[in-house]
Amino acid sequence: MKNFVIAIDGPAGAGKSTVAKIVAEKLGFLYVDTGAMYRALTLKAMKKNIDFRNKEKLIKMVENTDMKLYQDTKYRVILDGEDVSEEIRKEEVSKNTHYIASILEIREILWKMQRNFRETCKIVMEGRDIGSKVFPDAQLKIYLDASVEERAKRRYLQLKEKGEAADIEEIKKEVIERDKKDKNRKIAPLVKLPDAIYLDTTNLTIEEVVEKIINLYHQKLNSSG
Ligand code: C5P
Repeated sequence: MKNFVIAIDGPAGAGKSTVAKIVAEKLGFLYVDTGAMYRALTLKAMKKNIDFRNKEKLIKMVENTDMKLYQDTKYRVILDGEDVSEEIRKEEVSKNTHYIASILEIREILWKMQRNFRETCKIVMEGRDIGSKVFPDAQLKIYLDASVEERAKRRYLQLKEKGEAADIEEIKKEVIERDKKDKNRKIAPLVKLPDAIYLDTTNLTIEEVVEKIINLYHQKLNSSG
């Protein structure tokens, strides 16, 4: 039996990270944030001033990158030995992830890394293509959604909390733009799969969403005997 995977996909700001972390903690699963991987590679390309249209160069860069995700007092991303956990959250990085995310060769490298986590652990993995590409055989697939207004509001509050300047209208535009790119790219777009459970979180609290997912997990366990 393969280790249990809870795959959580959905658009930016739907609450995937917050919810996935708590679900993983409650169930004793490993939490894996795949967006952090795309972000870290984007940050590296930006720092190295690599032209985002130069696919070959980007692929080479990724082949020569050492990336680790791990958890101590918080979830960390270590890129070539440097902790970039905070830096990858910058809006500039968010805006540029689509370049890295639309290159198949790069996704293939990341898919392999992502699949490796299942070898040793039960996992909650979140992203855009977890149910469709990384683990099409995930035992539980969730599609988390929320209205654009609500998602922009959540991002805005997150940034404010960190003390960063934020303009809600700007964020809304950015969220719409990123959704469009994530849903319409040719390679591994964000899709609502027929076998994924759709959860609209617009009017739900974090606790309610967590509870729903944990109930679904227990239902799956019971039904698979
Ligand atoms: O989830 P997060 O907002 O951190 O993801 C940042 C970006 O990384 C997404 O907008 C998307 O372009 C890309 N991504 C992806 N596939 C994933 C996770 C993230 O293409 N599984």
